[in-house]
Amino acid sequence: MKRITILGATGSIGASALDVVQRHPERFRATALAAHRNAAALADLCARFRPQLAVIADPAHAPELRERLAAARIQCRVEAGADALIQAATGAHCDTVVAAIVGAAGLPSTLAAARAGKRLLLANKEAIVMAGPLLLAALADGGGELLPLDSEHNAVFQCLPGGRPDLAAAGVRRILLTASGGPFRGLKTADLTQVTPERACAHPNWRMGRKISVDSATLMNKGLEVIEAHYLFGAPAQCIEVVVHPQSIVHSLVEYVDGSVLAQLGNPDMRTAIACALAWPQRVAAGVAPLDLLRIARLDFQEPDIDTFGCLRLAYQALAAGGTATTVLNAANEEAVAAFLDGRLPFLGIAATIERCLEAVQTAPVGDLAALLDTDLTARRHAQRIISTLSTPTLSNS
Ligand code: NAD
Ligand code: MG
Repeated sequence: MKRITILGATGSIGASALDVVQRHPERFRATALAAHRNAAALADLCARFRPQLAVIADPAHAPELRERLAAARIQCRVEAGADALIQAATGAHCDTVVAAIVGAAGLPSTLAAARAGKRLLLANKEAIVMAGPLLLAALADGGGELLPLDSEHNAVFQCLPGGRPDLAAAGVRRILLTASGGPFRGLKTADLTQVTPERACAHPNWRMGRKISVDSATLMNKGLEVIEAHYLFGAPAQCIEVVVHPQSIVHSLVEYVDGSVLAQLGNPDMRTAIACALAWPQRVAAGVAPLDLLRIARLDFQEPDIDTFGCLRLAYQALAAGGTATTVLNAANEEAVAAFLDGRLPFLGIAATIERCLEAVQTAPVGDLAALLDTDLTARRHAQRIISTLSTPTLSNS
């Protein structure tokens, strides 16, 4: 029986993970659930899954959660605050942690799970982008194992020989990450001046949280994934390529020196990657419809348009710069995406903010968590200043 903590239980990945858990009560049990501030949604999940521990990150919402659980006569320990997230990630109640908090807010708990030697199922890609070397060191210290939930990295993981192989010794020439291209694929800069958050969040193939949906629209999601692949698989940047594949059926590919190219295919449904990681090395049903190749009929591949979607270029640039440049990239992106979703920044201002931030904020080798959070804060403050100069009157008045 795997005892699982789900950090970010009320989100899109959280829902998919709980769906897989529910299908296999004899194998999986959700022993702790954590969320940000939606007490009603978390209480509903507690009623369905009966965890030992429920954590609400924002303490202001803890009384509501306690009342709801008491009213429904559900016995479950309730904890609140940032330290409680760490407890949920490290306590004896779990051996497996699904890290599915969005953004930098997930870093401390993700790191803590790694250091505690839990089996870490990583969706929170911002954590590895911010703190790749720290996360790898924490995993080595804890002796646990990381299994990627991001569909591309899960695909690469499935196409590589077991463990975390030395890629050159394993004969790997390139990792090819596929990208759907998002809702604005094929558009040019002039078409993107007026796009709204609603259009940016209307992804053609995946239903996801709003932040990652905007990242998919700017191609920053793929940029973050290039950095994620670099750290997860020890691949140099020049061996990681992005190919646009509008159907989202081929989730990624690994090319070997003998000319073999292995790919993982499936319908675009996160439950495949989640079930794979939860049960690995076994396989369990995920509730995903079988792939109907005859109905799909064709698979297309295109080069990404990095002139229009500058975020992908900026991510490669930050990876090449090394150290905390990817921490700055992530912080600037989180601030810019939040401002765009709030109507305070035009869509094209996202890449502009990140570019200026990367130019202005000093970077250093990755140090400890405190130093990294300091860099994160400096970059956010800088990004906010840039955003205030880029926000248009029309947008801020609307
Ligand atoms: P979401 O917005 O749907 O859910 C986010 C979850 O994080 C919620 O449960 C929320 O309560 C929690 N959360 C937010 N801020 C928090 C805070 N300060 N403290 C504690 N909890 C907090 O997002 P999502 O789409 O599920 O994405 C989650 C992560 O998974 C992101 O890093 C995303 O990039 C990654 N990911 C998502 C998908 C997908 O299909 N949705 C695919 C690959 C990777
Ligand atoms: Mg992905």
